Amino acid sequence: MFERRISRQVKVGSVAVGGDAPISIQSMTTTKTDDVQATLIQVHELATQGADIVRVAVPHEGDAKALPAIAAEGGVPIIADIHFSVRLAMMAIEAGVHGLRLNPGNMRNPKHIEEVATACKERGIPIRIGVNAGSLDRKLVEKHGRPTADALVESALYEIGLLEEHGFKDYKISVKHQNVPEMIDAYRKLASKTDAPLHLGVTEAGTPKQGVVKTAIGIGTLLAEGIGDTIRCSLTADPVEEVKLGKQILQTLGIRDSTFDLVACPSCGRAELDVFDLAQRVEAAIENMDLPPMQIAVMGCEVNGPGEARDADIGIAAGPGRGLLFAKGKQIGWVPHDRLVEELLEAAQHVAEEIRAAGGDQSGEVTVLKGAGRRNALMDIGMRQTP
Ligand code: SF4
Repeated sequence: MFERRISRQVKVGSVAVGGDAPISIQSMTTTKTDDVQATLIQVHELATQGADIVRVAVPHEGDAKALPAIAAEGGVPIIADIHFSVRLAMMAIEAGVHGLRLNPGNMRNPKHIEEVATACKERGIPIRIGVNAGSLDRKLVEKHGRPTADALVESALYEIGLLEEHGFKDYKISVKHQNVPEMIDAYRKLASKTDAPLHLGVTEAGTPKQGVVKTAIGIGTLLAEGIGDTIRCSLTADPVEEVKLGKQILQTLGIRDSTFDLVACPSCGRAELDVFDLAQRVEAAIENMDLPPMQIAVMGCEVNGPGEARDADIGIAAGPGRGLLFAKGKQIGWVPHDRLVEELLEAAQHVAEEIRAAGGDQSGEVTVLKGAGRRNALMDIGMRQTP
């Protein structure tokens, strides 16, 4: 759908990043990494929710000592977040992590940079260069007056040079800024100067209230321009929320298959029932069901409702005291308000079975049932069609 920028590919363990690899979702644990059990629980939780790669902070030797177990048992590629220490970087490499996040410029000593680059090259471990507006080199801030997009790009190119001096090209880059227009500008500029894979993120986006919007606009704008190979949503929240947001961004742009798409009207004075409550109850129930990708519409009245409900795989258009239920474009019947959620979910389950039987689940595309298949689905649903 979007023409993707051509980048070279790196491998973070089993996950390819860049080139034609699917855009991956990353997150970071919030546990103390030296607490192996707590960290592994969180890594598994993030992976279950859809994280492709998980990063852990390694500020101390105790954290580095925990890495062998975490890298071996995490179930997803683990990236060690190292900032300054060559010693911790070497411990992480020896521990078998699948990637490092470090800026060689922070190490200062060229021998240390060479040591890390050589060890990573020998083991096929990629490095993410992570330039961040909040920790930009003071000289660059003075030169540019503030952490501008140009300052971030200049810093990234400098860091690239430090690795390439040692023949190391297995890197990906981020240029994160908390200011969304500046962040977008930085990635656009960087994308025109390198073919390295890009890790997208709005840094310190804040609590979900503001952070979701900032992140969706920043990352979403760039992805829609074909820029970006892996993403991390930085929210001041449980990292599971970061993963869910990442999935939502990719699904909204049509980059990743939707699990389900809830179409719900915003409600207005015409609404025949509490649309907010109905939509939230349907959403909560669907999230706990194992359904193939499908669209479900919840509409509050008979004015715009039937059109949207008919277009969805399953839809409800509310009327006075009852709602009209649709499945795959056909009217199924009228359902009293107090049974809408129950009947809608039952209909969704039956249509899901038909979609699976038709192979729609494998392809990730919703199969539109026709003729006998549709008749069977409607009979399965067990509702009388309206004439
Ligand atoms: S579908 Fe009906 S209730 Fe919902 S916003 Fe539109 S007109 Fe209002």
